[in-house]
This record gives sequence, C-alpha cells and structure tokens, in this order.
Amino acid sequence: MGSTSLLEVASPLNAEEVTKVIKEETLLEVQNLKMHFPIKAGIIQRVVGHVKAVDDISFRVRKGETLGIVGESGCGKSTMGRALIRLYEPTDGKVLYDGIDITKLPERELRPLIRKKIQMIFQDPYASLNPRKSLGNLLNEPLKAHGLYANLKERNEKIKEILDVVGLHSSSMNHYPNEFSGGQRQRIGIARAIVLNPELIIADEAVSALDVSIQAQIINLLEDLQSQFNLTYIFISHDLSVVRHIADRVGVMYLGKLVELADKDDLYAEALHPYTQALLSAVPTIRQNGSVNRDRIILKGDIPSSSNPPTGCVFHTRCPAKIKACETIVPQLKEVQPNRLVACHLYNNPQIV
Ligand code: SF4
Repeated sequence: MGSTSLLEVASPLNAEEVTKVIKEETLLEVQNLKMHFPIKAGIIQRVVGHVKAVDDISFRVRKGETLGIVGESGCGKSTMGRALIRLYEPTDGKVLYDGIDITKLPERELRPLIRKKIQMIFQDPYASLNPRKSLGNLLNEPLKAHGLYANLKERNEKIKEILDVVGLHSSSMNHYPNEFSGGQRQRIGIARAIVLNPELIIADEAVSALDVSIQAQIINLLEDLQSQFNLTYIFISHDLSVVRHIADRVGVMYLGKLVELADKDDLYAEALHPYTQALLSAVPTIRQNGSVNRDRIILKGDIPSSSNPPTGCVFHTRCPAKIKACETIVPQLKEVQPNRLVACHLYNNPQIV
C-alpha cells in the first residue's frame, strides 16, 4: 500500500485550509523585547540616559508567512530586526525560536541552532561584501564555517545551484562585488542568505535602494524562493506599497512601539490606529469612480526623540484623536477584532474613554 500523509488520513480539510493551518504554526515569538542603547557623556563616559529604540514589543511570526513591519525612518524597525538575531544584544525580553529563547543562548549553542536557520538580507549588500573576495569565495565562507559539505568541489556545486536559483550565471563565481549592478548585488545578498538553507529570513529595506523595475524583479524572486524553500519572512520596509504587495500580515511601529498588527487586507482596507491611518493616507489610492484619493492626514510636529519619549501613549503629541488619558496611560497592544491588535485607548480601554 502506498504511503498516505497524516493530514490526508486524519483531516477533512481541503488544500487551502491545510495551507492555512500550516501557516498558523508559530515559528518565532517575540515577548516584551527591548533594545535600549546607553547615552554616555563626560570624561568618564557616565550613562546619562537611554535611547529606547525598541521598547516592549511582542508579536508572533507564523511558519510560512510574510510579516511586514512598517514605520517611518527611526521608528526602530531595523534595530528590532537586528536584535532578533542578536546582531544587537537585546536589553530585555525573549525571542523564542521553535520554543527556545535565543536571547539567553551562548554563541557556541546559538551558531548550530540559529545562525543557519535565521538569515538577514540588508538594504546595501555591497557594504557587507568584502570587495577583495570573488563571489565564489563569498558564498563558500558560510558553507565552510558551518562545516557543510565534505570538500570545495561539493561546496562549489551547491554555490552554482544557488546562483542559478537567484538568477545569476555560474560564471559570475569568479567576479568581484564591484563588477555587479545594484540588482545583481541584491541577488548576491539573497544567495548568501539562502545558501545555508534557512527557515526564516529577515529582509531589512531589501529593495529600498533599487529602481522600481528592479524592485519588482527582486520581490518576485523573494516570493518564488518562499514557495520553493518554505521560507518565512519578516519584511521590514518604510514603503507601504511594497509591503502591501508582499506581506500576509503587517505590523506598524512608531517610536519603538508596535501600535497595530493585522492581516494585510484588513489593515489596508481600514486602519484602526490613528498613526496607521495617517501613514496610509500618505499613499494615494484609486476611488471606485477612478479618481485618485489624496485625502492626506497631516500630522503635527516631528517624531519625538526615542531618548526622551512622551509619557503615556508615545503618539499623543501628534495624535489628532488624543484624549486626556493618553498623556499618562500607556495603551497596551490588544486584540480588538479577530487577528487584529491595536495599542490605542479608543479601542481597548472603554472605561478610560
Ligand atoms: Fe491617539 Fe490616545 Fe490612541 Fe494614542 S492612545 S493613538 S494618543 S487616541
């Protein structure tokens, strides 16, 4: 008798529902993550304050999904991405990967467990590529460091395979970073990320520096790789249109806080948090009659400093819907509709309103 999968035997779910169940398995859980950088001053470099770049953030990433993280420049989204893989050591909180808190692991345990499984793609791959090393050497390094494949011949075979997957010719193995265009360099960044067969990729402004036509090619490539290798993405970007295209769910950050988290379609159809509403209003949309909706919500003032964030709701100094309590009481991120979390007193604390 031929083998039959457990899902086929035990589950009456159709293919679409099975995909949904698989997607809803948690791969990464972030609990109360903080990344505070000390501000030092004077001859003895005394700590006189902290920049609260990431301040008490919690969320889950489901297996196989793309979680978009959006927010203006300086909101802490890139710092959060780096703290998740301990490029910065988090000040506090937990990052559970498959249930293991990776913030507490010593490097010798982190390397075999996590370094291979979580990879990062940066905005400027050129900055992280040694200009004196050929592409072949650059891709060989991580394979060798992790003791994968018995010899150089086998590693080179793997590298050729990966180059083909990301749309680069195997002959480019002998070329140096300065010989590639911006789009090709980002393909190299992606090749470096996937060569170790990761499960989760954190893409930090991965297409922001590219021309629009190249952006589309790279996004299509990321989507193809996701289905080919069952990848999970955290896609960090200030570009709401790009995130709308690629993400399944979207988290919105403001001044180190996560203020809204929702399914992409729900968020773009109707933002609930006043900051998300302002952010989305900056993206022109087409009305049903074909005219362009340019009803923009203009926020007063600049983003406050994360070294001295406002009390209460950090958005209260610019919020058009502010009430008195917002100045003193911190709103918690709570589920206000199924699969929809918002940190705002207007939705989750009726006794205050
Ligand atoms: Fe605006 Fe208050 Fe909601 Fe903050 S809690 S977003 S200040 S209404």
